[in-house]
Amino acid sequence: MSSSDPYSGFYRLSRQARLTRLLELKLIDDADYAVLVNAVHSDYCDQAEKLIENVMGCFPMPLGVVPGVKLDGAEVSVPMVVEETSIIAALNRTAKWVRTQGTLTTSHQGNCMIGQLHIPYVRDFSALKATVLKHEAAVLAQLNETVLMGLAARGGGAQALVVRCIQRPGDAGDMAVIHLHCAVCDAMGANLVNMAVEALKPHIEALTQESIQTCIVSNLSDTQMTRATLVMNAIPSEIQASILKTAEFAELDPYRAATHNKGVMNAIDAVMIATGNDWRAVEASVHAYAARAGQYQAITRWTQSGDQLIGHFEAPISVGIVGGMTAAHPMAKLALKMMGVKHASQLARIAAAVGLMQNLAALNALATDGIVQGHMRLHIDNLVMASGAKTDEMDAVRTCLESVLTATKKVTLTDAMEALSALRVGHVQPITCA
Ligand code: NAD
Repeated sequence: MSSSDPYSGFYRLSRQARLTRLLELKLIDDADYAVLVNAVHSDYCDQAEKLIENVMGCFPMPLGVVPGVKLDGAEVSVPMVVEETSIIAALNRTAKWVRTQGTLTTSHQGNCMIGQLHIPYVRDFSALKATVLKHEAAVLAQLNETVLMGLAARGGGAQALVVRCIQRPGDAGDMAVIHLHCAVCDAMGANLVNMAVEALKPHIEALTQESIQTCIVSNLSDTQMTRATLVMNAIPSEIQASILKTAEFAELDPYRAATHNKGVMNAIDAVMIATGNDWRAVEASVHAYAARAGQYQAITRWTQSGDQLIGHFEAPISVGIVGGMTAAHPMAKLALKMMGVKHASQLARIAAAVGLMQNLAALNALATDGIVQGHMRLHIDNLVMASGAKTDEMDAVRTCLESVLTATKKVTLTDAMEALSALRVGHVQPITCA
């Protein structure tokens, strides 16, 4: 890198010096500088320096809570970090609905993560498979005595080797993949599994004379499965019918399934972020599982039985309550403590449960008022803020936007700006509201 490169050594600067460099480069101005320095307490930013490179500051996100989620016969209050206005509001209403009319149960099976060793062009797949399986017990034992010693001492560690053949079209030769199943106890396990597969590579190469290219954790951890079932009682038949039609739409059409599953992940991601978990990993896992049949589908299924509406969620949710930043970040610690989570599987079950509840909230909104009405009413506060209204102007602009929404079924930032301008030129009742 040339010394005239303005970013040379940028990552080595202190945060203060980094901000000064950004000012000099005119990438931020004085007002931005003040926001970056003052928005979040410097303790958090000091901690952030230990997590990522090139820290400028911290990005505050709302931390909310959904209290009273009745789950497996007990109540849990679920902290969530999320910026989308409607999510916690919808979950709050649904939590109350479930408390009065529903039963929500969860389960979790298995806790193995999968690590992959990839042989791009396998010379002799049958021989590879026979050799790997012959030495499986010894290879696993060696891993558990070395790189996975800590997990093995906790009752986890390397559990199995699975050999897969992936055929290329035509005569281009076969690819082989060896899976290491590793029980990760209460960690999410990605780093642990990455270390294990890298340690395994030279042993397998020496045993099989095959050439391994890539060693990496898989985020499709279908060796573990989290399930949630929600039974809602006394649901009017027309609402049931509407919800089931919308749910079927998501089962059969990937375009709809993407939005349906996004709604489920609205809640799951918010819990993942609040607990310091890797939400990208959970997203990848859930979406890959949703496509397991060869077509991307809804991650939930809805059926009816008499006046009961029954929802199911099933997907691998790999989370940790140790490792990564879960036990180090003060907010993540607080969130785990608030939920009384003692094991990773408990956290996965809570995530699945709120994902399914969020799905019910969305399906119910679509079956009744439509999504716009509820979303936009809540979005009004964002528009009021975005319009630049001062604190003493906000109520008037909000009232105006509410009447615009009622009258026209839509409301935009332009409406908010017009309402504010009208207010400022002295119209007691802004023109747009007249
Ligand atoms: P980690 O590297 O922090 O390892 C977990 C540690 O916790 C180990 O040292 C383990 O010995 C210890 N531990 C203490 N008590 C334990 C218990 N009860 N059960 C299990 N372990 C216990 O974290 P990790 O879980 O291996 O990996 C998670 C991190 O990896 C996340 O930060 C994630 O963002 C990151 N990551 C993810 C991917 C991916 O998903 N593709 C890839 C690379 C890294």
